[in-house]
Amino acid sequence: MTDQKKSIFDNLETAFSGKTNADLKFSAFIFQMMSNPFLVKLSTSAALLAVKLHLPITGIVKTTVFKQFCGGESQEESKVVIDKLGQSNVKSILDYSVEGENEESHFEKTTQEILKVIRLGKSNANVPVACIKITGIGSFDILEKVNTGVQLSKEDTIAFDTIKNRLNQLCLAAQQNDVPLYIDAEESWIQDAIDSLSMEMMFKYNAKKAYVFNTIQMYRWDRLDFLKKSLEQTKNNNVKLGVKIVRGAYIEKENKRALEKECKTPIQQSKQATDNDYNAALVFAIDNIDAIEFCAGTHNEHSSELLTQLMKEKNVAKNHPHIYFSQLFGMSDQISFNLASLGYNVSKYVPYGPVKSTLPYLIRRAEENTSMAGQIGKELLLIKEELKRRKMLAN
Ligand SMILES: Cc1cc2nc3c(=O)[nH]c(=O)nc-3n(C[C@H](O)[C@H](O)[C@H](O)COP(=O)(O)OP(=O)(O)OC[C@H]3O[C@@H](n4cnc5c(N)ncnc54)[C@H](O)[C@@H]3O)c2cc1C
Repeated sequence: MTDQKKSIFDNLETAFSGKTNADLKFSAFIFQMMSNPFLVKLSTSAALLAVKLHLPITGIVKTTVFKQFCGGESQEESKVVIDKLGQSNVKSILDYSVEGENEESHFEKTTQEILKVIRLGKSNANVPVACIKITGIGSFDILEKVNTGVQLSKEDTIAFDTIKNRLNQLCLAAQQNDVPLYIDAEESWIQDAIDSLSMEMMFKYNAKKAYVFNTIQMYRWDRLDFLKKSLEQTKNNNVKLGVKIVRGAYIEKENKRALEKECKTPIQQSKQATDNDYNAALVFAIDNIDAIEFCAGTHNEHSSELLTQLMKEKNVAKNHPHIYFSQLFGMSDQISFNLASLGYNVSKYVPYGPVKSTLPYLIRRAEENTSMAGQIGKELLLIKEELKRRKMLAN
């Protein structure tokens, strides 16, 4: 018998209490598919081609990966998922996942959608915060130009001002409706622009509590320092620092670009270095819990358990309003549901939007899961264990 230490995430009955056997078998099927890199490559290329050729693929995507990782095509359709998660005290962060669009009409539509989420949050306790990708409300190219510091043309200045106005409108609504806004982190070559916008909004809206949250990607070697500097800045301006702490989702893209540009990669030298900084960021956040409100966005069991231990050591209440644990919908239920059942604040990012528009998000999930052999294996293993446990109980 192996002498493995028990973890708070081992309780599979709690982890999967909301799932029927059919649900579990469906998830196992999806993860099994995603564990095959060849199949993932083939199906993502086929899906993108089918969209280009206007082939009817919506049905098949909607009943497979979309069902596993998304709440629905609209806020209304996502209500079933929101209510279901809410029954286990897991809150939903509705994420309007329309990516890769580059027209003002789309940016405006996304702004209106997020405003709708914020208003929903005011009346629905299961939707405590909203989230945004700045590239959802403005052009990537403009952000890249701002990032590099080049002189903006008259049109570019107008476009950047429009992004700022949209963000300001959302942050104001976040404050007025008491529904904070998480600003997602993106590629490093636009991140300085996002960081500046986020800080500007924090100065404006975070005096009483954090209504605006920036996101810090610990897979970057400069971010622990950045976190510390951000706290200094917010303290100097008498506002709260709001941060979502993640490892980072664009590792391959970042390394590829650095190689192409022959410059130093912003990515840490090893996974261990990322883990060390992630955990150090948690320690730093707990040590400064009066001045920082944070969300630990991770599927890493060790980091999640570490945070529970740090809270215990420092006598921080499990449901301290400054701390949220967060996972993505469709993943790591053993973390979300066990933490929620123990009384911690837990939420899941629940992406929603028209099936075709969520394809970039779904492809990222598929590629990330395939490249993280450990993660997919873990999801599959847990589901299989739970099915086995139920079968034994039934016999
Ligand atoms: C609620 C939530 C919100 C999120 N928001 C964002 C966001 O705004 N922006 C964003 O970029 N991502 C975001 N993510 C995704 C996140 O950054 C990670 O990609 C994902 O969660 C996997 O990391 P992990 O902490 O769960 O765990 P793990 O599985 O332990 O870590 C995997 C991660 O480690 C890092 N890594 C892997 N190999 C190496 C290596 N060789 N060297 C250095 N680092 C390595 C990568 O970041 C990889 O994704 C979010 C995730 C969640 C759960």
